[in-house]
Amino acid sequence: MFRIIFLTTLGASVLTMAVFVASVAGIIYVNISDSQREALKTELALVSAGVTKGGIAYLEAAKAGHVRMTWIGPDGQVRFESQANAEAMDNHLAREEVALALAAGSAESCRHSPTLSKNVCYAARRLEDGSIVRLGIATDSFLSILKNFMMPQLYIILLSIAVSFFLARLSAKRIVAPLGQVDLDKPLENEAYPELAPFLRRIDAQQRKISSQYQEIMQNYEDFINITSAMSEGLVIMDARFGIISINESAKAIFKAPEDSIGHNFLQIDRNMELNKSLELALKTGLQKFQLARNGLTYLATVSRFDNPQRGAFLVLLVLDITEHAEAEQRRREFSANVSHELKTPLQTIMGSAEMLENGLVKEDDVSPFGQKIHAEATRLLKLTNDILHLSSLDEQMPEQDMDFDLYEIAGACQQQFARLAEEKNIAISVGGESARIRGPRSLAEEIVYNLCENAIKYNKQDGSVKLSVARENGAVVLSVIDSGIGIPRAELERIFERFYRCDKSHSKAIDGTGLGLSIVKQALKHFNAQIKVISEPGLGSKFTVIFPGFSDSQARDA
Ligand code: ADP
Repeated sequence: MFRIIFLTTLGASVLTMAVFVASVAGIIYVNISDSQREALKTELALVSAGVTKGGIAYLEAAKAGHVRMTWIGPDGQVRFESQANAEAMDNHLAREEVALALAAGSAESCRHSPTLSKNVCYAARRLEDGSIVRLGIATDSFLSILKNFMMPQLYIILLSIAVSFFLARLSAKRIVAPLGQVDLDKPLENEAYPELAPFLRRIDAQQRKISSQYQEIMQNYEDFINITSAMSEGLVIMDARFGIISINESAKAIFKAPEDSIGHNFLQIDRNMELNKSLELALKTGLQKFQLARNGLTYLATVSRFDNPQRGAFLVLLVLDITEHAEAEQRRREFSANVSHELKTPLQTIMGSAEMLENGLVKEDDVSPFGQKIHAEATRLLKLTNDILHLSSLDEQMPEQDMDFDLYEIAGACQQQFARLAEEKNIAISVGGESARIRGPRSLAEEIVYNLCENAIKYNKQDGSVKLSVARENGAVVLSVIDSGIGIPRAELERIFERFYRCDKSHSKAIDGTGLGLSIVKQALKHFNAQIKVISEPGLGSKFTVIFPGFSDSQARDA
């Protein structure tokens, strides 16, 4: 801009000066020509008088000077020529000024003279004898006047150009300076030039638009970050070179990615070969699903490729925690295997005994014990089948009617239920504590208390004791079952809730059981969000504590 203003100003100054000089030269040229012609006319009158009196002698005497003198006879023959040889000259009758003077008495004419090779202005006059006296004066051309005029002025012109140069520079700087100070962040607060106002208004409007669009984008981005941060699933968005574009908190935790993972190469953060291969494959095929094991958990990973016409391909990795599902699947597999095994053993005993009876291989006296054996195994089979069915229904989360009931009452009923079983080993069952109401599926609460109580009797010693107690503690209802039985080895405490798990196999065989009782208890507890704790000392006894949360003292009393 500075350059344009500078050159324009300088050009305008120089052009103005050139026009001025040319105009002045023109005016001078016109003035000089006019005065020359007037002087020529005056001189023509004098010379005409001289020629009338003195003829050629006069002309010879007067010929010195810059005025060309010609005397032409009435026939056009040149009688005298001051600047050339008259005899060699052609007939002048056709010359414009000669012809006009013959006709009108006097005439003027300016043209290029081939004789003098100059611009010449002529004035001619007819004398009384019909001859013509003609004076001619060579005039300066406009350019030569201009040249003559310019020469003395040259220094002035050069000086003027130099001044124009500095002035143009100065004014260009002054014009441009306020533009450099325009604050484009606040376009409407500038007072540079009124002419800039529409331009600044447009910038302001555009800035507002850009700012609102930017805020909208930032808001969307923030929403995206907030939503993905709250996701329990891991989410990673990568470009086609596996550079991380976005990674949420869950994904950082799963892949142990650093806080500032954006821009890092994902393959370098998680160097697992299988994962890397799957990502590369997803880039080619568009979709890959695979399982991942991280931090003791099992994940299902889905990688999808998205193609953006402008930015190329990018990958979205979604990682889902399927540990529970995988464990359930594993449990189901183990359960099926265990069920087949557990069912097979009594069935084989029944079949073997039945075959022997059928084939008459049993002595008369042994028929009754064989029958008892078949009956006992069939009973065990029935109990096993019932437990399996019951556990399956609990697995399926079969809806149970919720109701308010007193856990203390259930403990009392349990005491009565198992009175006979306890008597067999002379075990004393007591129920202590207080009335405490809870809400949930009552049959499952009975299941919990009965199973724990039955185990406490089953795995007890002769003349032992079982203490049931119900108490309200810190907003929870606590059931405890304490026995003085055989106890559970520390290493097995974790496993007793596993399906079909029985401690001390040889001892367990002597005590009737399916290994499903505590599994049923564990499943039933989920319906109350309840927790179970076990403390046990082999040879001394065990304490099972169940905590039913969310039943405050006041609630319980009100209920
Ligand atoms: P089971 O039908 O064998 O009783 P459970 O699932 O109820 O099956 O119990 C699993 C195992 O835990 C039992 O086989 C037993 O070895 C052990 N157990 C459970 N309760 C007690 C207890 N009160 N005292 C000692 N051992 C126990």
